[in-house]
Amino acid sequence: MTAEIILKSTIDVTYVDHMGNDERCVEAMLVSTKGLDAEEASHDKVRGRLSYLIKNRHGTPFECGALTVRVHAPIKVWREWHRHRVGFSYNEESGRYKQLDPVFWLPPRERPMMRPEGFRSAYPDFDVPTEDEYDKISSYLEAGYRATYGWYVDLLAVGADRGLARDVLGVGIFSACYVTMNPRSVMHFLELRTKCPEAKRPSRPLWEIDNAARQLEAIFARLWPITHSLWNEHGRAAP
Ligand SMILES: Cc1cc2nc3c(=O)[nH]c(=O)nc-3n(C[C@H](O)[C@H](O)[C@H](O)COP(=O)(O)OP(=O)(O)OC[C@H]3O[C@@H](n4cnc5c(N)ncnc54)[C@H](O)[C@@H]3O)c2cc1C
Repeated sequence: MTAEIILKSTIDVTYVDHMGNDERCVEAMLVSTKGLDAEEASHDKVRGRLSYLIKNRHGTPFECGALTVRVHAPIKVWREWHRHRVGFSYNEESGRYKQLDPVFWLPPRERPMMRPEGFRSAYPDFDVPTEDEYDKISSYLEAGYRATYGWYVDLLAVGADRGLARDVLGVGIFSACYVTMNPRSVMHFLELRTKCPEAKRPSRPLWEIDNAARQLEAIFARLWPITHSLWNEHGRAAP
C-alpha cells in the first residue's frame, strides 16, 4: 500500500531535568578539605577551581551532576549516539510495543550533502546542493521512505510481529530517547560530536549529530555556564 509519511527536517533536543551545577562540582572537589563555604562559593573562586580541574584533567568532580534530555532524532543519529557508553543512560521508544510513527528525516536545503571533486573520507566536507540536486536527493529519500513504510504497514496487516516488520525500514526513520548524562560525559560527547576547527582535537562528525550536539551544548551552557566556558577555553577537550 502507499503510506502517508511525515518528512521532518529538524532534530529536537529538549530539556527534561537536571541535578547539580558549577558549584556542586567544586563542592565535590573540596570533599577532603573545607567544602564549599561562602568564600569558596564566589564566582571567581569557583571559576579558578574549575579551571584548575579542567586544565589538569581532574575529571571526576564533573561526574557530580546529571542532565536528562529528550531527543527526537533519526535512527542513524542513534547509531552514533548510542556508542557513547560511559556516563550515559538511555531509554528508547519501542518498536515492539507500538507501531512506529511514519516520521522520516529530510535534510534541510542548507545541509552540505554533495561530495566535492577529490573527496576524501577522512576529511568529509560536503558542498551545499543546487536546487536541482536537492530536489533529486529529497525525491529519492521520500520515495524510499514511502515504499518501505508501506511495506511495513503491509507486514503488520498480515499479522507479522512488529519487532520483525520494522526490518524493512531504513535508518532515516525517527526514534525518541530519554538520555541522561553527567557533565563530564556531556563534554566528552560534545568534543567528539561537534565540528569545531579551533578545538584542540578537532572532530568531523555527521551533520545531523552535530546539529543535535549543538542543541545539547546550549542546554549544558545554560546549566553549567562556568564549566562550559572553561571547557571551551581549554580547547573543548573533556577533562
Ligand atoms: C568522527 C567520528 C567517526 C567515527 N567513526 C567510527 C567508525 O567508522 N566505526 C566505529 O565503529 N565507530 C566510529 N566512531 C565511534 C567512536 O569510535 C566511539 O565509539 C564513539 O565516539 C564513542 O566514544 P568513546 O568510546 O570515547 O565514548 P564512551 O563509550 O562514552 O567512553 C568514554 C571513555 O571511556 C573509556 N572507555 C570506554 N570504554 C572503554 C573500554 N572498553 N576500554 C577502555 N577504555 C574505555 C575511553 O577513555 C573512552 O574515551 C566514530 C566517532 C566519531 C566522533
